Amino acid sequence: MCQKPLREHSWGGTPTAKMEVKTSLLDNMIGVGDMVLLEPLSEDSFLENLRKRFDHNEIYTYIGSVVISMNPYRSLPIFTPDKVEEYRNRNFYELSPHIYALADEAYRSLRDQDKDQCILITGESGAGKTEASKLVMSYVAAVCGKGQEVNKVKEQLLQSNPVLEAFGNAKTVRNDNSSRFASVDSVLSALALLPEVKATKRGADGQDTNLLEKSRVVKQPRGERNFHIFYQLLSGASDDTLKKLKLHRDFSKYNYLSLDSAVVSGLDDAANFRTVRNAMEIVGFMEDELQSVLELVAAVLKLGNIEFKPELRCNGTDESRIKDKNDLKEMCELLGIEQSVLERAFSYRTVEAKMEKVSTTLNVAQAYYARDALAKNLYSRLFSWLVTRINESIKAQAKTRHKVMGVLDIYGFEIFEDNSFEQFIINYCNEKLQQIFIELTLREEQEEYVREGIEWTNIEYFNNAIICDLIENNQNGILAMLDEECLRPGTVTDETFLDKLNTICAEHQHFESRLSKNSKFLTDHSLPHSCFRIQHYAGKVLYRVEGFVDKNNDLLYRDLSQAMYKANHSLIKHLFPEGNPSKVNLKRPPTAGFQFRASVATLMKNLQTKNPNYIRCIKPNDKKAAHIFTESLVRHQVRYLGLMENVRVRRAGYAFRQTYEPCLERYKMLCKRTWPHWRGPARDGVEVLMADLQVPAEEFSYGRSKIFIRNPRTLFFLEERRRQC
Ligand code: ADP
Ligand code: MG
Repeated sequence: MCQKPLREHSWGGTPTAKMEVKTSLLDNMIGVGDMVLLEPLSEDSFLENLRKRFDHNEIYTYIGSVVISMNPYRSLPIFTPDKVEEYRNRNFYELSPHIYALADEAYRSLRDQDKDQCILITGESGAGKTEASKLVMSYVAAVCGKGQEVNKVKEQLLQSNPVLEAFGNAKTVRNDNSSRFASVDSVLSALALLPEVKATKRGADGQDTNLLEKSRVVKQPRGERNFHIFYQLLSGASDDTLKKLKLHRDFSKYNYLSLDSAVVSGLDDAANFRTVRNAMEIVGFMEDELQSVLELVAAVLKLGNIEFKPELRCNGTDESRIKDKNDLKEMCELLGIEQSVLERAFSYRTVEAKMEKVSTTLNVAQAYYARDALAKNLYSRLFSWLVTRINESIKAQAKTRHKVMGVLDIYGFEIFEDNSFEQFIINYCNEKLQQIFIELTLREEQEEYVREGIEWTNIEYFNNAIICDLIENNQNGILAMLDEECLRPGTVTDETFLDKLNTICAEHQHFESRLSKNSKFLTDHSLPHSCFRIQHYAGKVLYRVEGFVDKNNDLLYRDLSQAMYKANHSLIKHLFPEGNPSKVNLKRPPTAGFQFRASVATLMKNLQTKNPNYIRCIKPNDKKAAHIFTESLVRHQVRYLGLMENVRVRRAGYAFRQTYEPCLERYKMLCKRTWPHWRGPARDGVEVLMADLQVPAEEFSYGRSKIFIRNPRTLFFLEERRRQC
């Protein structure tokens, strides 16, 4: 500990001139570690700095406390236990930028200040979000407390990852292991380290509250796969297990499995199956539960193989009949369902009107629709159940602790050639996350200066609230219009929905001004048929309306939910509570869009109660390749992530702020007059300290409760002095 305050290093003139702080944050060879220090600042120099660092394997760069993470697409030796030790209990600015520094900061703030934390990881698909979330989790798992209870919870949490990935991830064009789900409660609590466990609740009507991309169960875009678990099960299960599940090993036997990309190089489905099985055991699944889960997965595959043919009735209409009943029979055996009940549910539909039950026949198209709806519901409800089950298991272990460290790894912004309802929903969610970023960093930052009485000129930034409103507004937002259309009697098609969008856009004064003048809903004559275009914060996206109405309706005929409810199967029964005949509910279940909007709103509320930490992931190239830095691609991401605005706000302001007491505590050793005890208000002590160290006045400001330090250099200087003590 320092006895004699050091004086000889005090500044004279500009802080840069004399302050010889050797830190990797300032190393010119590899670029600057904090964009706040970049001179001169422009988009080009920003990109150049990222590139320089990327070329030197420095994949992390700060903007103040925000971490930019570039996907290296190869393993780097910077995630070792030694590194964990290096970053443990160190201040953010002491070492070169690393995701561990952010994890450590968040963890200490959770532990010492009792503040719930959330780590918000954003970026487009393939940018490295899921990997980043795993790094954060493993770091916190390594440094957090020991003891039997904690260890057990840690292990369960880490093992919940492969389970969630097997059931919730899939190979997409952008990413071989793309997360296709997001849910506040599930993700936050499943990944919470000291978990406050909130089970994902199922609405009373049996609807899911998770945000799984369930359309993938029945159909995958070209070049993509279904959820990993299907392939893992077929590749990795023993012959005996497969026989019990009445399955073949051959992917090509199943309609729901796309074949063009079933085998992914570098992905060992068989080995992963063993990992998942093992992980499920560790997380606390019983053998019979595991069996039930696999039966359900098998049932979905069987369901996809059920095909229909038309049968002409005497009144001239077509009625659907099952072509070959073998798959139906096997599926019913797996799930303990009476075959005739399910068979009937695929041929007839009971509609209740004015307390009267009317049976109408299903034609072939309607039967396929019913089949796919059942498959999607089976799978997504299984997923919700898994999440709940994992949470419960962890909750049972973690009896005492209730602080939360949530890691939110959510699907990123998607712009494809063909964008459908799924992309619309995913992109809406990303708009909301961007909105939170704006609120909490840009706006909050500026408001803090005002609150603290610091002189400040506002920096302009693009606020995407207008796009969120365009989508979610209760009266005439796109989702509300889609719901209105779906619930309207009469013939409803995707085209009538599009007409409605366009008409309202043209007619409605308010809407028009919101949409056209600010041009987020782009109507121009170059639009292809059946499409609309939105100017998202991340770029223009063309959406094809085909399927919007069906996907939003997401209707599971009651006859099917009742058939499932009657199943003699320990798991299925609980997944379809609305099938209970004594609980007939004539109200139409909420639409997919409505549920999604509600889940997103809950997510935002949940995040706002926590202290946010940001990781902004960037994808360096479109080839999933190491060493390639495609400038145009990175530039685009830097733009839409609003990183330049982020640096500008930071630079115009103060990189660092701290309340007076801890600041004095940390640095009082640097000054004779404050060491070892300062008597008097902490603020006065800090003033004495800064005067004594001759830190130039323009480098800091005294706020009402905090000192604001403009440049990270000042901080390095203080830290360096401490080190020399
Ligand atoms: P996202 O979740 O953003 O869609 P992922 O985290 O799944 O993206 O990353 C996609 C792929 O990129 C990973 O499968 C891995 O191959 C590679 N990758 C991402 N981050 C890292 C990292 N820190 N180190 C090595 N490879 C990475
Ligand atoms: Mg992911």
